[in-house]
Amino acid sequence: MQTLHASKCGLTTAQLPSSILDVIDSLTKAGYEAYIVGGGVRDLMLGQSPKDYDAVTNATPSQIKEVFGRRCRIIGRRFELAHVYSGRELIEVATFRAPPKKAITSSAGMILRDNNWGTIEQDFARRDFSINALYYQPRKGIVLDFCNAVDDIKTKTLRLLGDPALRFEEDPVRMLRTLRFAAKLNFNIDAAILDIFTPEMTKLLRDVSPHRLYDESQKLFTMGHLHRVMPMLIKFGIWQQLFADLKTEITPFIERAASNTDQRIQIGKTINPAFFYAVLLWENYLQRCSFYHAKGTVAAEARAQAGLDVLKRQATRTIIPRFAETFIREVWEMQNRLLNPKPQQIEALSGHARFRAGFDFLLLREKSGDASTNGMGAWWDAYQNMSTDEKERAISTYNRQRAKSRRKTTTEESVEAKVSTQIEPLVKESETRSRRSRKTQSEVKKTVPQTVAHTAGEISPDHPILKRRRVQRDLAKVVFGPTQ
Ligand code: ATP
Ligand code: MG
Repeated sequence: MQTLHASKCGLTTAQLPSSILDVIDSLTKAGYEAYIVGGGVRDLMLGQSPKDYDAVTNATPSQIKEVFGRRCRIIGRRFELAHVYSGRELIEVATFRAPPKKAITSSAGMILRDNNWGTIEQDFARRDFSINALYYQPRKGIVLDFCNAVDDIKTKTLRLLGDPALRFEEDPVRMLRTLRFAAKLNFNIDAAILDIFTPEMTKLLRDVSPHRLYDESQKLFTMGHLHRVMPMLIKFGIWQQLFADLKTEITPFIERAASNTDQRIQIGKTINPAFFYAVLLWENYLQRCSFYHAKGTVAAEARAQAGLDVLKRQATRTIIPRFAETFIREVWEMQNRLLNPKPQQIEALSGHARFRAGFDFLLLREKSGDASTNGMGAWWDAYQNMSTDEKERAISTYNRQRAKSRRKTTTEESVEAKVSTQIEPLVKESETRSRRSRKTQSEVKKTVPQTVAHTAGEISPDHPILKRRRVQRDLAKVVFGPTQ
């Protein structure tokens, strides 16, 4: 172990927010050891601005609770830690961890329960990468380096602590973290990791909870380097583990949406990770729509069911929170409305809560060469910047062209004239998985005759749609980022 001078590593207390200093000071005053560890130290040493700061201490979670009182909440089961609120910020405070006991690992070697408190040396050995295992005591102005991590920072090397195969088996999410950090920091992956990072190894991700994988997928989407990480995810076979039925090909649409997402993050704009999920699963959704069309299902019903099916499949890999699923289905449904809007509803559509996301999605499709948008992306783009008079003219021109292309009869025109200016809901609540799956199997069977009548006899009682089972979710553990 070497003790480094913080100033020689380019670290000063002036760089630190008062929240993390408050946590370190309060724990020290109460007689405990406390350090900043992980991404905060790493990023500062790399001259980058940290996303957040994590603290580590020899105080147990209940002792941390005693120090901070109502400002502290103990969270997690597998990995118990304290959340301490300082001003408006939240600092994660972990207790030094000892190696896990045998009895709490799964047959595949995965750690299931991990609340064995230990020393700083033991805690160090439990961390993932050398560069994430530097312990910074800002008040003493020192950094504890147990494994010459400073050299890895200098040479830009991502090195796992301990035996890489064992560390991946203990926690397969470390495979995702490897690619995330390599892409985010532009580091080289150590040869010892590359040797064992096989498609066989990535199969271990199947044992990881889909909730945790959703969290990780969000971190991948929001780190600002999607562009760099996507080919890596494909190359190492992780893409296939994360996304159900997704082709291992980055389409121009995905590529464009990824660049757009990265750019937004670089300029400090917020992004909604569900939007990128909508992009990724779009092709699958279209295919599923075609499947139902081919079966003769009514178009609106086909779209609704295709959306449910695709998200249901994805939930076997990453469980997208229910509200984010609704967002995705609304963005998809918006495509249909924006592509072929009823003239009377154009103005209302442009003020719809989902318009912005739906329009961004349409424009990305169009700009990535999707001719099926019929130029409507550009049309809506122009429409938004028009004066009221220009809008009226644009709508009547659109109306004439639409009537011409549809070769409508006079009767049809007059029926259309009575169309409400109100927008029907994009996603009907009665179609959501939650409602449907709350019904018991027998209740589902009872409702079959109505459904059959509604869909012109297309759905038989043994249709897979009616056989869905509820997937247990614990939304409390799912973190969801800000909306656009
Ligand atoms: P980020 O910039 O994404 O916050 P980070 O390194 O701080 O990166 P966190 O997920 O915040 O990542 O975790 C904080 C620290 O906890 C890590 O730096 C690492 O030392 C440790 N850690 C987190 N996840 C794992 C894991 N799966 N295995 C071992 N150590 C981990
Ligand atoms: Mg962190």
